[in-house]
Order: sequence, then structure tokens, then C-alpha cells
Amino acid sequence: LARRWGENSVRVYSADASEPQSERLALKTGMREALREGQLFIEYQPQVELASRRIVGVEALLRWQHPVYGRIAPDRFIPLAEETGLIVQIGEWVLRTACAQNRAWREAGLPEVRTAVNLSARQLKDPDIVARVLQIVADSGVPTRCVEIEITEGTLIEDLAVNRVLMNELRQAGVLVSIDDFGAGYSSLNYLSELPVDILKMDGMFVRRLGAASGRARSFALAESIVDMAHRLQLKVIAEAVETGEQLADLCAMRCDAAQGYLFARPLPPDQLGALLARQYAVPAAPALA
Ligand code: C2E
Ligand code: MG
Ligand code: MG
Ligand code: MG
Repeated sequence: LARRWGENSVRVYSADASEPQSERLALKTGMREALREGQLFIEYQPQVELASRRIVGVEALLRWQHPVYGRIAPDRFIPLAEETGLIVQIGEWVLRTACAQNRAWREAGLPEVRTAVNLSARQLKDPDIVARVLQIVADSGVPTRCVEIEITEGTLIEDLAVNRVLMNELRQAGVLVSIDDFGAGYSSLNYLSELPVDILKMDGMFVRRLGAASGRARSFALAESIVDMAHRLQLKVIAEAVETGEQLADLCAMRCDAAQGYLFARPLPPDQLGALLARQYAVPAAPALA
């Protein structure tokens, strides 16, 4: 399956210092039109619970099909949207659209899934962010337990005191909160004990090392320590960027809760994700739990 959708995810533009300023400017100014003209769309990547092999969630990932430059990677245009502030409107559009899609799957009789949406640093600075999120979720008619907000570790620790309050409010309303790209930066672990979160998303970096030919035992020990620590703090762990059966076997052995990655599926258009849900997509050649 991964191979079949492989061509979908080519990154046409990556952050590149040699990129002409004119293009950067064109993208920056073109984004408002992109939102208005429907050039933005969302793909959904399944999150598979390892014990049951069922899709328990999907991550909403934003895409931009530019009329001239083609497909532009979010790592490229989201920082620009942060600079202009348009990320606030775009972020609301993503949440609204992703919630509407969740509802559409429900109404089609498909199994319940949680939809995870990424929130950027700029959005968290909006004093009304929690009210806005909860309003959008309420308007969509999707239960709050089916919505998850992902915040990167780097963003979280920018303003721990404020973010702790926001996260608390979201969780009190029943929305789940996860720490994205956990372990990717250089932040201390101390903050974890005081943050109201439900899920750690283990950065793909740790998963990639699991598959490496050298130092596999040490990589395993490191990833396992993250899983154990999370569990002792009553958190679930989702492993990101799982690409191989070996990585999956290791993650199962260390009792990681869930995983997403090309091994299961690329980020997919809504109808294709719906088709997977309809089959309650099972992992091919699933290794036995240790
Ligand atoms: P992220 O939230 O950490 O999303 C996971 C990224 O890993 C996605 O990249 C996904 O396509 C990619 N990925 C999934 N499986 C694999 C795998 O097996 N191997 C590898 N190498 N990569 C895999 P994508 O879609 O290019 O998005 C990049 C980043 O852009 C996201 O990282 C997130 O930080 C940001 N982003 C995407 N959509 C939104 C959005 O709606 N709002 C905000 N604020 N940020 C977004
Ligand atoms: Mg994410
Ligand atoms: Mg991530
Ligand atoms: Mg990331």
C-alpha cells in the first residue's frame, strides 16, 4: 500500500537557502488566495493501535497544491503562514474541515476514530484559542473525545505556564492533547511531570534508529525508556514514521501503544482513508506480540 501511494507525497519544495526570494515572497502572498480558492486540502494518515491492529486515529496533514509551483510541503509554507499570521485562519480551517470529515465518516457508518490536528505556536498565542477550538468542535457535532490537539515539544516549552493552562482547559472539555515530535529537541524532561497531556508522539528519529544496522540494542533501550517513562506518567505513546517491519516488531516488544508511518499507509485523501476504515485495515504480516 505504501508503495501504491508513494507518488502522492513527493516534496516539491523543501526549505532551501538557495531558493530565490521572489518565490518565497510569491508563496507568502499567495497563501491567502490559496485558502480562498481551495488550493489547500488535507490528507489523513492512520494511527494504528498495536495491540488490536485497528486504526484508532488519523492525523490531519495540510497540503497545498500551487497552480504554478505544484505541491508545496507544509514544512515549507507553514513557517511562512506563521510569519504573516495567516496560520490562525488556516489553522481554524484545518480544524473545521478535519472535524467535518470525522463526522462524515461517522455518518457513513464507519468505526469511530479520533482526529488529530496540529496546532502551531502562533495559534497558541491567541488568547481565545481554547474557546475557538471548542466552538469549532461543538459546531461540528463531533464528540470532544474524538478530537486530539498536537503541539510540538518545542512550542510547548516556549511558554510553559500559559500552555499548561490552555492544555488543561482543552482536556477538561474532553479533547485529547499530545506532545508532537517528542525527544527531537534539547528540552529537559522536567516539564513532563507538570504538563496535562494524554499522548507522547515519539519522534521519527528514534524509530529510524531502531532499524539501523549498528547500535540497535542501544537504540532499542533508548526508545523503550521513553515508552516506560510515558507509561509511568499514565501517558500513551504513538511512534511516528514507522517504515519497516523490524521497527514495528521492536515497538511491539517495548509495548508502544500505537504507530503511524508509511508501513501502514501514507497520508491519504479522505475517501481512501474511509476505504481503509471500512476494512478496519489490518497490518500485513503483523509480528506476534513479545
Ligand atoms: P508532524 O506533525 O510531525 O507530521 C508527521 C510528518 O511525518 C508528516 O509530514 C508525515 O507525512 C510524515 N510521515 C508520516 N509517516 C512517515 C514515515 O513513515 N516516514 C517519514 N519519513 N515521514 C513520515 P508532512 O505531512 O510533510 O508534515 C510536516 C509537518 O508540517 C508536520 O509534522 C507538522 O509539524 C506540520 N503540519 C502539517 N499540517 C499542519 C497543520 O495543519 N497545521 C500546522 N500547524 N502544522 C502542520
Ligand atoms: Mg503532528
Ligand atoms: Mg511529529
Ligand atoms: Mg514534525
